[in-house]
Amino acid sequence: MSLANGRTYLAIPGPTAVPDAVLRAMHRAAPNIYEGELIGMTESVVTDLRRVARTEHDVAIYIANGHGAWEAALSNVLAPGARVLSLATGRFGHGWAEMAGTLGLDVEMIDFGVRAPVDADRVEAALRADKDRRIRAVLATHVDTSSGIRSDLPALRAALDAAGHPALLMADCIASLGCDRFEMDAWGVDIGVTASQKGLMTPPGLGFVFFNDRAAAARAAMERVGPYWDWTRRARPDVFYQYFAGTAPTHHIYGLRAALDLILDEGLEAVWARHETLARAIWVAAQTWGEAGALRLNVAQPAHRSHAVTALSLPAPKGTELRDWVQENAGVTLGIGLGMAEPDDPAWHGFFRIGHMGHVNAHMVLGALGAIEAGLAARDIPHGAGGVSAAAALLGGR
Ligand SMILES: *Cc1c(COP(=O)(O)O)cnc(C)c1O
Repeated sequence: MSLANGRTYLAIPGPTAVPDAVLRAMHRAAPNIYEGELIGMTESVVTDLRRVARTEHDVAIYIANGHGAWEAALSNVLAPGARVLSLATGRFGHGWAEMAGTLGLDVEMIDFGVRAPVDADRVEAALRADKDRRIRAVLATHVDTSSGIRSDLPALRAALDAAGHPALLMADCIASLGCDRFEMDAWGVDIGVTASQKGLMTPPGLGFVFFNDRAAAARAAMERVGPYWDWTRRARPDVFYQYFAGTAPTHHIYGLRAALDLILDEGLEAVWARHETLARAIWVAAQTWGEAGALRLNVAQPAHRSHAVTALSLPAPKGTELRDWVQENAGVTLGIGLGMAEPDDPAWHGFFRIGHMGHVNAHMVLGALGAIEAGLAARDIPHGAGGVSAAAALLGGR
């Protein structure tokens, strides 16, 4: 017998649960791309994306996933040979740096491991050591989805300023936008990169690059930028098709419009508070389970944890056994461990993640936690009793 039939919950850190309102908005006949409501709707989407990123500046939209947005951001401001300082706190930081290297950039890497956030003092020292000011950009991952680590972007801006260094601050906020507080302008982020399928609750397929005037000046100084990646006309089109350098991603625009309505109707502060409270419920459950047995949260300090994804470990192969059990028996799909061990290493089966980003509420989190607790029992994994009760007590305000 399986208890998985019913509404399933994809509790992986992207793609995330798509709200019914978004699905309904996308379920329609193809709209005209030359006139009609799609034109004004796209303008409104641009306006509201800026509100969600807390910026007054420009945004370019790409028909792409996060990797496409990464490449778009790099391609607009960095020519082959330019040096970048890459900061890694997990697999995604390395991934962006590897892409930069493939594009011919000269990558200087500071690897902070997979259990601690970026140390702004070390970044400041590296910037001060760059006497000739060869570093053109600092690449940072706000939340690394593999490790669950959240880094302090304002502290990075302060490090750049303290060193008096002109490099651009480029932030991957793919896993944080619409989940964790992100304030592009107040935090002095020059370029913010994100995508549709995480906190923005829309199927994969749209990538976004936010850029300020400093970044626009860096773009203007480039000798050549590939025509598809060039953000200039996308951000300030003369005619509609230039938003997308071709056919508009029609249904995604309808979906994103509905998702932005959900976010702005709830209020960004409330969205951030909801994610934080749900994250705390997950952490208290995991801590309670960890009181007996070996289940552990990857990130020790709550202040360094993402509010949208939690990385955990169990002795291998119990992580994979647990994931398999909850998927097959409870209809909850948990995230695989990413970047903590190589896939061919037996240790790989000791890691898993809970995605709690976007369209997630208390009953979904309690359901996922209850399924995990059932799985811990079913797979004979030693654990402290009362994880779900502890989460429920926290959500109940006690
Ligand atoms: C998901 C994610 C990416 C990659 O996005 P894709 O859409 O899979 O290309 C990059 N960085 C972070 C932090 C992410 O969470």
